[in-house]
Amino acid sequence: MPRFDSDSALRASLRGMHPYEPIAPPEEVAARYGVAPGRIVKLDGNENPFGASPRARAALAGDYAPHRYPDPAQRRLRDALAARHNVPAETIVAGAGSDEIIDLLFRTYVEEGDRIVVATPTFGMYAFDAQLHGALIVDVPLRADWSIDADALVAAAEGAKAVFIPSPNNPTGGLLPMPLAERLLATGALLVVDEAYMEFSHGESLVQRAAAGEPLVALRTFSKWAGLAGLRVGYGVMPLAIATALMRVKQPYGVNIAAEVAALASLEDAALLDERACVITGERDRMAGLLRESGWLEPAPSESNFVLVRMLQGDSLTVREALRRRGIFVRTFDHPRLLDHLRISAGTSEDTDRLLAALREARTELGQ
Ligand code: PMP
Repeated sequence: MPRFDSDSALRASLRGMHPYEPIAPPEEVAARYGVAPGRIVKLDGNENPFGASPRARAALAGDYAPHRYPDPAQRRLRDALAARHNVPAETIVAGAGSDEIIDLLFRTYVEEGDRIVVATPTFGMYAFDAQLHGALIVDVPLRADWSIDADALVAAAEGAKAVFIPSPNNPTGGLLPMPLAERLLATGALLVVDEAYMEFSHGESLVQRAAAGEPLVALRTFSKWAGLAGLRVGYGVMPLAIATALMRVKQPYGVNIAAEVAALASLEDAALLDERACVITGERDRMAGLLRESGWLEPAPSESNFVLVRMLQGDSLTVREALRRRGIFVRTFDHPRLLDHLRISAGTSEDTDRLLAALREARTELGQ
């Protein structure tokens, strides 16, 4: 009998696949650079610098049942989210991060050879999932000022299975303009608007319209606004028929018990989390002002909890290294248009001050 050959058995769409580039664990990077873990300023993951809310922390320390399976129908969480957004619970699907909802949309609707439209630079998960499913990525690059080329995007959407647009976009920070959303809704493609950072913006959410049945999915997450990135809980709001299909396709227990209790408690702490979001965007604006004043860094306008910064001199990897040696972690990208950019998450005011001090030192060290 011939032996199983894992190389030739590999699905064709996975050969030569580019893996998703996750951020490295901070302890590992800190150890590599000889930085004490307590000295890390972590501005590379768009995480919430204040952590989980007090009620979420209390709920996690409280009395729940880790030995039980979670509710596969997600009743309590979907009901609480329905109350928050004033939409029917049946139009909501929760998952292990909004990443799981993206994955579910692909598993439910995308076949090999389907066209998936994105506008890069953007969140890498859509292209990652497209590769997994053998779909064709159609990229409509953002313009030089990071705005969307609306006509080109609409043209690409016609004949595509889905369009994935974060609003605000990661990593550029801009919103999907509403008139463009209207045009995309008329193309015949499914519009997936990823609102992971919506709570930090002045943007208009499409959650209500998704629940009302338009060909639209609005994605949300507890990772950013609620500071629960490590627990992995996100959700999508969508037309009833799409939600019903996703509920049928999903793994039964995607949202674990701890994530569920923390998410429910976060919703009870929504007012506090909204206040924190305001503090974070205030700090983002202060940071952007200080970066601009430094004379060599040009922050793009942001509606999110991070800024994309263009360096007028130097390359991002060298500056990232110099910052890491000082315990400051920022995000770089290998996208060809971002080799001279850093994405920096908004942290506490102390984080900003340490970032600025480290950037001054790095600039001197690198002679820029
Ligand atoms: N969408 C966007 C635009 C993101 O930037 C991220 C996280 N980096 C996600 C979704 C994933 O969120 P989650 O943690 O809920 O999977």
